[in-house]
Amino acid sequence: MEENITLNKRPKIIAGPCSAESFDQLLTTARALKKLGIETIRAGVWKPRTRPNSFEGIGVKALEWIEKIEQELDVTFTIEVATAAHVEQALKHNIDNLWIGARTTVNPFIVQEIADALKGTSTKVRVKNPVNPDLALWLGSIERVINAGISEVGAIHRGFSSFRKSKYRNEPVWQIPIELRRHMPEMELICDPSHIGGSRSMIFDISQKALDMGYDGLMIESHIDPDNALSDAKQQITPYKLKEIIDSLTIRRHTSDDLHFKTKLEELRDKIDSIDHDLIETLSSRMKIIQLIGEYKRDNNVTIFQLERWKEIIRTRPQWAKSLDLTPEYIEELYKIIHEESLKTQTEILNNKPEKSNIN
Ligand code: PEP
Ligand code: MN
Repeated sequence: MEENITLNKRPKIIAGPCSAESFDQLLTTARALKKLGIETIRAGVWKPRTRPNSFEGIGVKALEWIEKIEQELDVTFTIEVATAAHVEQALKHNIDNLWIGARTTVNPFIVQEIADALKGTSTKVRVKNPVNPDLALWLGSIERVINAGISEVGAIHRGFSSFRKSKYRNEPVWQIPIELRRHMPEMELICDPSHIGGSRSMIFDISQKALDMGYDGLMIESHIDPDNALSDAKQQITPYKLKEIIDSLTIRRHTSDDLHFKTKLEELRDKIDSIDHDLIETLSSRMKIIQLIGEYKRDNNVTIFQLERWKEIIRTRPQWAKSLDLTPEYIEELYKIIHEESLKTQTEILNNKPEKSNIN
């Protein structure tokens, strides 16, 4: 059923340094990556940094290096553009494979200016997800690029920033790229495990998960000397390490035509359908009790939110779940949703229905 990736069977892999730093760094990295069979090499030329005084990229000079290396090695580079002027400079240097970064996707005005600058060109453009977990913003940016007449458009999932303490640099929130797929099933979807994980050790697992979810490819930061990289040093890997990762990835088929497989899958899905039916019936019975409690609170002039009761629920349910082999965090999140809906229902009961007040 499973097969290891061989050079001509693997998903699309884009790799290269976070930033172009010097001609030599770019050339030696590109040379090593080309040896691995990587056709598209990434490099940041203008770096959108959160704080000033960090390395902000080489700028136009790097475009000259890239143009030269593309010819010398017969490779394609892809670079980030964040303004219409960047697009013009890139095209002037015959670089026609571009991506729009996460901090740019959040701004419809700039994305529109970039889209306008792309009109009439045959550029390949990939759009990274916005920094905040907002599917509509991501879809909107992609639509602006498509509406500019660009036919080769892709999406890059690089994760989302979050207030929550997390093991990720940017939380993946897999549900958002899955929804993007539902809206745009033909759109190329690439995962960027480097910016999701933010550390070398996480690249393999995130990449494998993305492939298991049917992504079309990966964008991985690779630097000839990662420890001394001028940006994102902690997450960059050598081309040698990249090869090791690629060689250990498993690719799986989207589906199988095997009759036995199909019958068995259908059988199991029938079971899921029936369980889901029961699940929804149970939620409905629970909600009926919630309504009764709402009426009871209303009639006794008691507040809806009862902190002690909520603390007890959020403590006990994850514990019960644990003993049934469910992750406590999963059940905790589920109960937050259930509780929110219960509060909403009881608020409606307290505010919209005629009060049977017992205050005379
Ligand atoms: C990058 O690719 O180096 C980069 C700055 O990415 P992002 O826009 O995802 O932060
Ligand atoms: Mn980077």
